[in-house]
Amino acid sequence: MPTYQYACNTCSHEFETFQTFEEASLTHCPECNGEVRKIYSAVGVVFKGSGFYKTDSVSKSSASVPASTPTPAPAPTPAPSAD
Ligand SMILES: [Zn+2]
Repeated sequence: MPTYQYACNTCSHEFETFQTFEEASLTHCPECNGEVRKIYSAVGVVFKGSGFYKTDSVSKSSASVPASTPTPAPAPTPAPSAD
């Protein structure tokens, strides 16, 4: 079921609603009954290709930590039992 996002022109109230094509589009804000506009930010976003989330080797933009160096884990501190 498609989700439509709206924003109110009067009070800037944003909300989402589930609608089918058979239903009429919302035109009034549920908060102030003002005029709303439809936002299409939630649809049509498709990342084509693969591996955009997976860098090949070393990211030059964030070279704060060498890839070969593992993240230094904190020394295990034995928690004193509250007895
Ligand atoms: Zn409103």
